[in-house]
Amino acid sequence: MRIYAVLLLTMVIDLDHLLVNPVYDPCRCSIGFHVLHSYPAIVLYAVLLLFKPTRIWGIGLLWHIATDYADCLLQPFYCN
Ligand SMILES: [Zn+2]
Repeated sequence: MRIYAVLLLTMVIDLDHLLVNPVYDPCRCSIGFHVLHSYPAIVLYAVLLLFKPTRIWGIGLLWHIATDYADCLLQPFYCN
């Protein structure tokens, strides 16, 4: 149950989308664009994996990045 809560909370990193205009663009790759989806942020999430108390956060955040990245890979097929 606690793990499920953490995984849900990792979705809040998408709040950084609210900092830009337009808020959502299906043809824009989030990775490397938004503050919390930048490469330094991803490195930080990987560091979280090294420590047991924060490991679940690292897994959740990197999973979020992985799913966003999968979207980026699919974009050439549905964006001009
Ligand atoms: Zn995201």
